[in-house]
Amino acid sequence: MSIDPTDASSTPRCTATAKGTGQRCKRRPIPGGTVCVKHGGGAPAVRAAAERRQLEAAAGAVLAGMVWNPAAAPVTDNVLEMQRLAGSMRQAVDVLGGRLEDGDPCEECGRGAGADLDSVTGTAWLRVLRELRQLLADMQRLGIAERAVELEADRVRLIAVALGRVFDVLGLDVEQRGVGTRVLLEELRAAAVAGEVAES
Ligand SMILES: [Zn+2]
Repeated sequence: MSIDPTDASSTPRCTATAKGTGQRCKRRPIPGGTVCVKHGGGAPAVRAAAERRQLEAAAGAVLAGMVWNPAAAPVTDNVLEMQRLAGSMRQAVDVLGGRLEDGDPCEECGRGAGADLDSVTGTAWLRVLRELRQLLADMQRLGIAERAVELEADRVRLIAVALGRVFDVLGLDVEQRGVGTRVLLEELRAAAVAGEVAES
């Protein structure tokens, strides 16, 4: 998007109106904000919000400039991919966290840069930390689901062992065992279908 300097509407202007004249303020808004310093743009909360908007816009520009490769290798193993992603995220958190700790004290406020979470590094650190926390929660849920599937498989193995013992006690031959197994599987399948219908 190009900006035409002769077009007044393309230059950002403070959105406030002057009390006396009722006309729109002609000053420039603070960077990332909608109002000028005289119309509330100097307030810490307004300045912080404007800075956040600038950071978000800068991050968006980085993503927009990326080359997306449609021929990139597909993800086939969700668990492995999540583990890799979590690993690189944790490293990013460590690197960014280290920068926050090592930073020189702020010239304006004298605080250590580590306490200045409004900085670009602090914003990036918080964002990756939140994403990592969400990913770890997702991985835990996936692990619980897999464990449930394993328990189901364990139960089927127990039933098969118990059925074999029953056949032994009854002294059944191979053909009778086949019939018994088939009937059991049909009954289990019917029970599973009935259970799914009841759940839905
Ligand atoms: Zn103004």
